[in-house]
Amino acid sequence: MVLDKGWEYRWGDSPMVEGVPEWTRPEDKGQWRAIDFPSNPPGREGRENVWYRTTLPEGNWRDPVLYIFSIDLIAEVYVDGKRIYHYGEFDAEGKGAFAGWPWHMITLPAHSAGKPIYFRVFSNYLDIGLWGEVKVMERMSLLEQIIGDSIEGLIVGGFSILIALLALVFALMQTGWRTFVAVALYSVATAGMVISKSPANLLLLYKPLFWDYVGAVGYFLMPAAMALLLEQWFNSPVKRLYNWVWKFHLLFTAGALVLCLGGWAELSHIYPVFDAVFALTLVMLFVPTLGLFASASYDQRAIILAYAVLSILLLLDMGVAHGVLPWGQVPVAWGALLFSLSVVVIALRFFARSQRMLQEMNILLEQQVQERTEELKKLSYEDPLTGLKNRRYFDEVMAREVALAARQRRPLSLLICDIDKFKDFNDTYGHTAGDEALRRVACKMRESFRQTDIACRYGGEEFVIIMPDASSEDALKRAEELRRAVSMDSVVIDGQTLEPVTLSAGIASWPENVSEADSLLTSADKALYSAKRSGRDRVVSVQLVE
Ligand code: GH3
Ligand code: MG
Ligand code: MG
Repeated sequence: MVLDKGWEYRWGDSPMVEGVPEWTRPEDKGQWRAIDFPSNPPGREGRENVWYRTTLPEGNWRDPVLYIFSIDLIAEVYVDGKRIYHYGEFDAEGKGAFAGWPWHMITLPAHSAGKPIYFRVFSNYLDIGLWGEVKVMERMSLLEQIIGDSIEGLIVGGFSILIALLALVFALMQTGWRTFVAVALYSVATAGMVISKSPANLLLLYKPLFWDYVGAVGYFLMPAAMALLLEQWFNSPVKRLYNWVWKFHLLFTAGALVLCLGGWAELSHIYPVFDAVFALTLVMLFVPTLGLFASASYDQRAIILAYAVLSILLLLDMGVAHGVLPWGQVPVAWGALLFSLSVVVIALRFFARSQRMLQEMNILLEQQVQERTEELKKLSYEDPLTGLKNRRYFDEVMAREVALAARQRRPLSLLICDIDKFKDFNDTYGHTAGDEALRRVACKMRESFRQTDIACRYGGEEFVIIMPDASSEDALKRAEELRRAVSMDSVVIDGQTLEPVTLSAGIASWPENVSEADSLLTSADKALYSAKRSGRDRVVSVQLVE
């Protein structure tokens, strides 16, 4: 049963006699004035204490409670001169600190029906008195109502927390992470706001001030998150405005928290300031954002519309909170959910798009890497078939070894060899067998020469070996060893033993048989030619040519 009759008020605070307020005594003859609803009586003039009273309705209640939606700011309730409820702590001067804005369930004593009930109120806030609904009801039906009123908030809140977590996971995956951080921030703000507005939260945790802080932070972060999201979605001159707005509101939230937790300000005093700034922000963002509508994509239009709906709901809610509009509960939670959903759907579409782009980029990158690797292969010093050094390497190293030998006056020998009748071998056994034969020759070269000797595949079936510090005799000995080893080795392919290959070699040594170290290659080549001409499968030294 709604308590909307017989309300009276009286400015100031009652003197106490032995713990009983004078003004609650039946014999008290003070001046009480009628008022429609126990809030903001006329002629406040800066006063912070007021009393209200009315008569409890007659009725057959089983377990009656008085339900008050909210109180500005702290109060004591008396029946029969006894304090039956208090919210916040009154000091000796009848003042006290803000303690949050919870709903109230006041247990009414037995036989209180038809009796006067008194409210002692203190408030240094804009409003003073009770707020929203005030009614007498059965405890069970109140609890049912509280849970019923909380369901949508708890659903939207839980959903928002889920979205926030998902957004954070996506943010960690890098692509478009800013958008997802913005979505996460927005969802956390929404969750904080709607959960703190769900009356059942007090049944879970009776910490009114805590919930008010959760709600305040969520509420204060709302414009920051909205501007951050809009900044991600709209690339226009307005972008700077969005950027400025979210930074300002982040700072505002941080500043408000520091002031309140540090005890320099009360949360209740921040709200009106914030509401004024928020209303301004909403309108300031609203106009240019709507201006973008015509040129926006479908995604962006969806966001603009959801933003518009949420903004209107938030402004209506503010209007109700400040008494500009009649009391009623504005479905802010649904507006917030609509905005979340549109943002999430679009963010996911964006994510899918960027994933596709990423995939295409990956393919391109792989191609580039492959091309680069091929280029690098060309630049490398290694012959892929035999694992020996290649001709490029030989050319570079030979020049260095020649210079070194000349400077240090140490001998330098060069051997060049060529496989005999290799064309025929290929023709007879096939190219694969030819390749295997080349690998085996390379293997023998590694075995027959010293570590410091440098064996290279000069091209085709020709090899060269640089032998620093080797005399003509040393070189001959080793070359002969190689020739023998190769001629005795046979290639086995598919279980079939092939005829061994042979090679012919030419040797030149500086300073023994060539006068200029840099003519070693041409001289060795002449010797090789001589070896071929004189019957192949042999080693010829330049000495013997002349
Ligand atoms: P000669 O005794 O006069 O050197 O006769 P040849 O047949 O060895 O000389 P020629 O220069 O006419 O032929 C060289 C052959 O070596 C030609 C080519 O088929 C073969 N060859 C060159 N490089 C490779 C290779 O990487 N793999 C294989 N399987 N064969 C190769
Ligand atoms: Mg050849
Ligand atoms: Mg040959």
